[in-house]
Amino acid sequence: MANVLILGGGFGGVVAAERLAETLAPEHKITLVSRSSRFTFYPALVRLAFGKCEAEDISYDLREAMLDRRVRFIQAEVVRVDPAAHKVTLAGGDVAGELEYDYLIYALGRRLATEEVPGFFEHAHHLLGVAAALRFKEALHNFHGGHACIGSCPGARLDVPVYETAFALSRLLAERGEEARITVIAPEHPAGAHPGSTDLARALRPALEAHGIKILSDFPIRKITAEHLLSDDGLKLEYDLLMLVPPFEGASALADIGLTNQHGYVRVDQTMRVCDTERMYAVGDAVYFSGPKMGHMAVRQAEVAAGNLVAELEGRPADAVYEHEMMLVVDEGGRDSIYFHKNLWGDETSVRQGRFWGWVKRMRERYFRAQHS
Ligand SMILES: Cc1cc2nc3c(=O)[nH]c(=O)nc-3n(C[C@H](O)[C@H](O)[C@H](O)COP(=O)(O)OP(=O)(O)OC[C@H]3O[C@@H](n4cnc5c(N)ncnc54)[C@H](O)[C@@H]3O)c2cc1C
Repeated sequence: MANVLILGGGFGGVVAAERLAETLAPEHKITLVSRSSRFTFYPALVRLAFGKCEAEDISYDLREAMLDRRVRFIQAEVVRVDPAAHKVTLAGGDVAGELEYDYLIYALGRRLATEEVPGFFEHAHHLLGVAAALRFKEALHNFHGGHACIGSCPGARLDVPVYETAFALSRLLAERGEEARITVIAPEHPAGAHPGSTDLARALRPALEAHGIKILSDFPIRKITAEHLLSDDGLKLEYDLLMLVPPFEGASALADIGLTNQHGYVRVDQTMRVCDTERMYAVGDAVYFSGPKMGHMAVRQAEVAAGNLVAELEGRPADAVYEHEMMLVVDEGGRDSIYFHKNLWGDETSVRQGRFWGWVKRMRERYFRAQHS
């Protein structure tokens, strides 16, 4: 009997647990550890902030959902992973102490490195959780004009909520009969951004212009005060409403043991096995692949990792491989919604536009919830 441990109850961890529960022989034990007992559907947080759905519509109870699938759920904080000893240290929650494993899937997502931008914590809104989205909702309620800055800090790896927030704000102001300046801020010059980001920005430019949304590229935010954003090269931008994606880093549970790159992301191969160790896989925002960090990537990586873990356990070669693709919908709220697909290890890019794609995104959200909760 093998003891399989999964760390993280987000897209990566949940999908890995479900695939393992479906395919592993029943004598093997599957345990999922996460600090929260709820799964949150992050792509819906923009709609939550704009009052288009309620918090309980976009999350569900993980403990119950996992029990239905013969997965033991432990709510706890993962403090440390020791791959050499096959042990994980947990604190607080249901269990405190050490937990041993035979096989591990590491899916702890990203850490918000807000300390890298002084003033972020005090002055910026973000959308990286239900509570943060509800605070931004309150700020939107109180915003009736001025300058709204929506964007990314250096090291942020998530473009979709930036664009969706800018579009939703433009529509909200139009509905209220109010006016404001909206600027989308990107840290890099378009030529220096990662390929997916540049192509996505190009595809969205006409729709942003149609909404009167300005784009300010090459503005790496270094510091935030109560009224201004300051860039690396000393530029200053005044704001009245601020929503930013903070810098991301890998979670700290694997720090300083040589399995991560300089930003804390876990090094894996295309089978999702962690390099330079054994019986360990990593998936989702926690891994070091280039480009944006996205939920559909976490899901695909979890499927690959689960497939290969089962093969390894059964003594077969790992034959599932991950292809790094970016596939997303930016919901503009109307006919300028786009579907964007790019092979990040190749050249093909495709873009489709239309009201239909916003609808597809909302339907996918409902489908995901119905399937997994
Ligand atoms: C506002 C917003 C909009 C987005 N829109 C899209 C979109 O349109 N399309 C798309 O594909 N992606 C989108 N994403 C990105 C997507 O949500 C992430 O890529 C995805 O959540 C990554 O899944 P994950 O399982 O790797 O990490 P996460 O979802 O972050 O899950 C990590 C899990 O680990 C737990 N955890 C972390 N650290 C610890 C610890 N030390 N101890 C115990 N538990 C811990 C967390 O509680 C969480 O349950 C969006 C994200 C946001 C924030």
